[in-house]
Amino acid sequence: MTSVATRYETVIGLEVHCQLITKSKMFCGCSADYSGSEPNTHVCPVCMGMPGVLPVINEQAIEYITMTGLALNCSIAPFSKFDRKNYPYPDLMKGYQISQYDLPVCQDGWLEIAPEGQDPRRVGITRVHMEEDTARLLHRTDPVTGESYTLVDINRSGTPLMEIVSEPDMRSPAEARDYLVRLRQILRYIGVSEANMEEGNFRCDANVSLRPVGSTSFGTKVEIKNMNSFRAVHDAIAFEEVRQAAMLDRGERIIQETRGWVDERNETVSQRTKEHANDYRYFPEPDLPPLKLGEQYVARVRAKLPELPQSRFQRFVALGISAHDAEALTEARERADYFEAVAKAINLEPRKDARLAANWVLGEVGRWLNAHGREIETFPLPAEQLAGLARLVDEGKVTSNVGKEVFEQMVESGRSAAEIIESAGLAQISGEDELLTAVRGAIAANPKAVADYRGGKTSTIMFLVGQVMRETRGRANAGVVQALLEKELNV
Ligand SMILES: [Zn+2]
Repeated sequence: MTSVATRYETVIGLEVHCQLITKSKMFCGCSADYSGSEPNTHVCPVCMGMPGVLPVINEQAIEYITMTGLALNCSIAPFSKFDRKNYPYPDLMKGYQISQYDLPVCQDGWLEIAPEGQDPRRVGITRVHMEEDTARLLHRTDPVTGESYTLVDINRSGTPLMEIVSEPDMRSPAEARDYLVRLRQILRYIGVSEANMEEGNFRCDANVSLRPVGSTSFGTKVEIKNMNSFRAVHDAIAFEEVRQAAMLDRGERIIQETRGWVDERNETVSQRTKEHANDYRYFPEPDLPPLKLGEQYVARVRAKLPELPQSRFQRFVALGISAHDAEALTEARERADYFEAVAKAINLEPRKDARLAANWVLGEVGRWLNAHGREIETFPLPAEQLAGLARLVDEGKVTSNVGKEVFEQMVESGRSAAEIIESAGLAQISGEDELLTAVRGAIAANPKAVADYRGGKTSTIMFLVGQVMRETRGRANAGVVQALLEKELNV
């Protein structure tokens, strides 16, 4: 692969189709949430493509695409319109798809990417436009006759779909994956889409071409489809890099074509060549008015935007959180929210609050969620309660090991840290008088360790500290214990 990168530069542009989580479909009142429903139960004359019925624009969808455009630093067109994209295919109920051709809602934006180990840089967003999804085709084979046939499920037909087109600004499979991860993150932060690739509500096609290193003109591009995970996008582009480089090395011409990714074979295969560009015969949709989004409207939508991951990341880093941890904390909005709520409730000093909260959220909370296969949204411990525990450990009321035990009990029982510590007698013992008996006991019970220590092997003291910790069920203040041991042993 490195040899490919020294001779050729990879040029990647991505087209993402993303379903919006609106209540109803794009141009009719049918419920857009059809997951788990019987086929063809979320339908009406509009989304079935009956003649003589009129579409109506879904305002929620327009708000969502405006939010997306603003979050991706696009300009929002004060005037845009819908067009009919004509192509004959059985998943298209009307024989055309309502889309946007020359006047999309959003244009000229950018998204900052920062793949691991690379400096951040911007990928241009060409446009974001609104369209409707198609019906779903289910290909079947008759078990008796062996004949294949296709069923149509119209539930998906007419659900709001947003297409996000990037500039050909990415240069490696890792950059393409990072772009998708960050795009998904933004869409989820602003709450417009579930953006789940495996479930098909976030779909990506890639345009990939190669050019000699140093060249500024573009090579012939190949479009890759059928990628159902971020890993598939990464691997398909990596495969194309090698395939196209080998062709160029042999002096062959790259054919402009559409290729499909075959997951189980780890390769792309030719689906159709594009010797002539598709002629969709776009024309303006006569049944829908143009979209006029004025400055006031855009300002109102902008005010609804939550703080975006990039800004939160910078704020967390400014509080002294490492870039690695800040990235982990801001990955999902809910996790960042929880972290901030915990930090706020600790309420000692901002940088200290952030450090303590980050340790707990990325440490014990993360481990608990992993172990229970849960997400932060369903984590049972309120932020104030975790903050209470964080403070008790920080103040030395309990040792950090006991703190972890108390954490487990809090999550299970719903009781507060103070209650658990009180009732189970878990408070840290720091009093010298209380600890002296245990210290003397450890010295008396371990003559060999004592002899080793006195013989100059001073590290043995940690063994004796361990014995006292065990004796006190982890409640002893280790610093006090060590000081006491040194005092007793050096008599
Ligand atoms: Zn409908």
